[in-house]
Amino acid sequence: MNEQDVLNKNQTKADVIRIELGDWLFNAGIVGFIKILSRGSEDISEKINIQDSYIEFKRSDLEGFTDKFFETAFEIHGKYDSIFQYISQLRNEIEKVGKDGMLDTIAKRYKINKLTEEEILKTILEEIIKRWKGVAYESFKKIRKTDFKTLNDLQGLINELYKILKDQRIFFVEKEVQTFLRGIVGGGSFLNKSVSKGQKNIFQKDFEEPIKEKKNKEDKKFNCIYCNSRKAKANTIFNTGLVFYQGLNKDTLNYSWGFNPNLPLCEICELIYFCHWAGYTKSLKNKTYLFINDDSNIRSLWKKNQLLAKVIEQDKKENILINYFYELLLLEERELSAYSLQNIAIIETDLEKDIMPKILSLHISRNQAHFIKDNHEKLKWFANKYYKIKDDYTNILHEFLRLILGRKLDFGLTNRLIKLYLQKLDKTTNYIQVNYNPTEIQQVVLLTVNYLKTVKQKSLDMEQKHIWHIYHLGNDMQKKLKEKQSENKINGIAYRLLNAVRANDKSTFLNVLLRLYIGYDMEVPKNFVNTLESEEKFQIIGYSYINGLLGEPFLDKYESK
Ligand SMILES: [Zn+2]
Repeated sequence: MNEQDVLNKNQTKADVIRIELGDWLFNAGIVGFIKILSRGSEDISEKINIQDSYIEFKRSDLEGFTDKFFETAFEIHGKYDSIFQYISQLRNEIEKVGKDGMLDTIAKRYKINKLTEEEILKTILEEIIKRWKGVAYESFKKIRKTDFKTLNDLQGLINELYKILKDQRIFFVEKEVQTFLRGIVGGGSFLNKSVSKGQKNIFQKDFEEPIKEKKNKEDKKFNCIYCNSRKAKANTIFNTGLVFYQGLNKDTLNYSWGFNPNLPLCEICELIYFCHWAGYTKSLKNKTYLFINDDSNIRSLWKKNQLLAKVIEQDKKENILINYFYELLLLEERELSAYSLQNIAIIETDLEKDIMPKILSLHISRNQAHFIKDNHEKLKWFANKYYKIKDDYTNILHEFLRLILGRKLDFGLTNRLIKLYLQKLDKTTNYIQVNYNPTEIQQVVLLTVNYLKTVKQKSLDMEQKHIWHIYHLGNDMQKKLKEKQSENKINGIAYRLLNAVRANDKSTFLNVLLRLYIGYDMEVPKNFVNTLESEEKFQIIGYSYINGLLGEPFLDKYESK
C-alpha cells in the first residue's frame, strides 16, 4: 500500500458516519434525517445505507442539506403554500374570464348569488386578510379594506400579492421555517430572534459545512452523552428545546451534570435530534403529528412511518390508528413477529404547542402481540368481509382490530354477525348486506376463544375439536330439518337460540333443543348438557351450534387450519 492509498483509506473511514437506534425522540430524528437527506432522490439508498440496526451516510453527501432541511420544514408548516395556492387560483380565474366576468367567477367560487359588487368585494377581501396574517406578510403589504373600492382595485391587489409571494419566496421560506422550528427545537443559531434574514446561510455555516468538512472542534474531556462513541462537540450550548421532551430542564440538568451549563453532545447526535420534527407525519385530527416508534429495527422503523403517511393520505375521516394497524397486518407477511408488533408505540404531539407528546395506547401488550401474530393468517381472511346497514359499512377485520386493540373482544361480535346474517335472509329487511357465511362466523368464534385464552388469560378447557363437534351437531339438525321438509323453520329456531344465548338463558336454549330432538325422535347429545357450566362455555357452545344449524357441512379448509 503506498502513501496515497493509506490516505484514501483513512479518509473514507472518517467520512462514513454510522447512527444506531435510540430513544423514541432520537428515532424520530433518524426517520426525519432519512427523509431530509433523501429529499429529491428517487432511491433512498443512493445516499443512505439502511441496515437493521444502523444507518450509514457519507459526510460529503451532506452537500445541499441546508436547502433540503428548509424545504422540508417549509412543506410541513404549509402556511405559505396555502396562501399562494389561494391567490394564484383566484388570479388565474380572473385572467381567464376577464374583468367583465369577474363578478360571476367570484360569486361562483363562494357559491353565492344576488350579491352586489360591494358585497362580493367585502367577502373576498375578508378572506384574503384572514390568510395574509403575520409580520412576515404584513411587512410587505398591509391590507386595509377601505383602500379597495372596486373590482378593479381588487384585481390590482391580487396581482400585487401574487408578485410578492413569487418574488420573495426565499424570504418566506426562511422566515416561516424559523418561526415553525423555534417552538420545536429551540436554540439553533439561525432560530435566534435577532436573525431576521439569511437564516439559511447561518444554518449552512453552523451545521452543514462543519460536519461535511469535519471542522467542528471536539471537547477535550467528554464523549457524547448520547452515543458515547464520538467526542462531544466543544462548547455545545445547553438548549432546552432539544431535550425538553425528555423532562430535562436547566435545573435537572445542572443537578445531573455537575452544574455544567454545556450539554456534551456530538455534532452528529445533535444533527439527528435537530431533525426529529421531520420524522413526524401530520395527522388530520386536531393538527397533531404522529410518529410510530419501533426500537427493534431501523428498516422497519422507516417502513412503518412510510406506511403511516400512506394511511393518512388515503383516509381522512376514520380512525387512523386502526386503519394503520389494518394495513400493517396486511403488509407484514414474513416479517411479522410478536416482538415487532409489541414494539410499536404511536407518539402523538402538537408541534406548535409546548405540550408533552402523548404516547398512545396502541403500545400493545406481549399477549396481544402474540395473539395477532399467531392468528394473523386467519384474521386476514376477514380483510374483505363486511356488513352494511343502510349506508353504514363495517369491515370485519377492521372491527376485529378495533376490539382487539381496545381489549374489548368478546362474543358480542359473533352475536352481531349472526343476527345480521339472519336479518339479511329475512326478506322483509332489504337494507342489510353481508358477504360472509355462518361457517366464517364460526372462525370468529374460534378466534374469540383464542383471544380469551391468550390475551385475557381465561382458562377455557375447550379444545378446537370439541367446538367443531358442536358445530356438526347443529349441522346434523339442519340436515334433519331439511329431510323433514321443515327447512323454513330453521331461521326461526336460530333466532330463538340466538336470543337465549345472548341473554345467558340456558333453560330456554335447552328447552328449544330438547323439543327439537324429542320431536324428531333423535337422541339428545350426551355431553351437551353438562358443558353449559359457565357463561363463556355456554356462548361457545350456543353460537357454534347456531352456526352449524345455518352453515355448510364441508369444512375441511377451515378445520384443518
Ligand atoms: Zn453522539
